[in-house]
Amino acid sequence: MTPQDKHSTQEQTSTRFETRAIHAGQKPDPVTGAVMTPVYMTSTYAQNAPGDPVGGYEYSRTHNPTRTALEENLASLEGGTFGLCFSSGLAATSALLGRFVPGDHIVAGNDLYGGTYRIFTQVYERYGIQFTFADTTDPDAVRAAMTDATRMIYVESPSNPLLRLTDIASMAEIAQGAGALLTVDNTFATPYLQTPLTLGADIVLHSLTKYLGGHSDVVGGALIGNSDDLREELAFYQNSCGGTPGPLDSFLVLRGTKTLALRMERHCSNAIAIAQHLEAHPGVDRVHYPGLPSHPQYALCGQQMLHGGGMVSFELSGGVQAGETFASSTQIFTLAESLGGVESLVETPPSMTHASIPAEVRRAAGLEDGLVRLSVGVEHVDDLIADVDAALALAGA
Ligand SMILES: *Cc1c(COP(=O)(O)O)cnc(C)c1O
Repeated sequence: MTPQDKHSTQEQTSTRFETRAIHAGQKPDPVTGAVMTPVYMTSTYAQNAPGDPVGGYEYSRTHNPTRTALEENLASLEGGTFGLCFSSGLAATSALLGRFVPGDHIVAGNDLYGGTYRIFTQVYERYGIQFTFADTTDPDAVRAAMTDATRMIYVESPSNPLLRLTDIASMAEIAQGAGALLTVDNTFATPYLQTPLTLGADIVLHSLTKYLGGHSDVVGGALIGNSDDLREELAFYQNSCGGTPGPLDSFLVLRGTKTLALRMERHCSNAIAIAQHLEAHPGVDRVHYPGLPSHPQYALCGQQMLHGGGMVSFELSGGVQAGETFASSTQIFTLAESLGGVESLVETPPSMTHASIPAEVRRAAGLEDGLVRLSVGVEHVDDLIADVDAALALAGA
């Protein structure tokens, strides 16, 4: 029996998201009654007799009680039967790719997180795994990219920075028809807004660094699924290759998920208010936000997501210069990469997160020079809008 088996998440699945966020995987400590899961700073565990560990735990790469609590919590929130945590989102991606062999083919979205594109093309392609990048917003383009060797479809929805949506249920249908897995990077949406496993995905991947941690104070990753075979394979990799988070990191993410529902509600209500405000502003060319009726996949957003999310991007006609002036002029939005924390952040994808993409390729993909991306935090919306307006004026918009 593994520690996970002893504290099954099943008993928690009848309660609602907000309740599970606070209780799933977490019980008062049996020794002291501590209500919060302790940070178990230990690498090893006592055994009664050789091979008979006192509490089921043997070594903290394999299992640690604080990490177990987080893994069960995440499994419950995503509607999965297992969760496995890693020291970063990309360590989770690496664990996922570790199950493929040379000759295997993966169809992936063509506007992935940059680090995901890099690990695919610069690390795992060297081991003989093949990738085709397709526009996953178009199921026909994904069908056309499938080969006899395709073992996985890998998508992000909403995508970054244009916040395009991929129809997860139709991706699941294509994957199932081809005997391939569907993995969804659910970092931008979070399980509060969207649960890919319930739409037919096999694996959900997270950068816990973003909304799930929620306070920009920890780096982490996770894989969540609902098949025993996948759990066994991925847990084997996790134990064999490491890349696991420490107990303090696990504790911080666990503290973050407790308020995920509250935070996401405010992120989303602030984001849509800002998106509407920007759309009505004469100096703004275009706003990308899935919760606006002008978004090309507004209808899909209504089917697949609870709200449009906390990320907004928009185009200024003044090009790179206007975008950079805007991003340097805000007082509350901090100029920084990353996203998903309680504080608002601003960045200019053409010169920051997406600078490595040649300008022509970038423009062809719809990423205009004057693009600005906001990670809308949970501050008071009136202060955020006033900050945006002042920066727009300075940017000449
Ligand atoms: C940040 C991010 C990652 C990578 O996660 P790290 O925790 O930085 O390793 C993967 N996917 C998305 C969508 C991200 O935003």
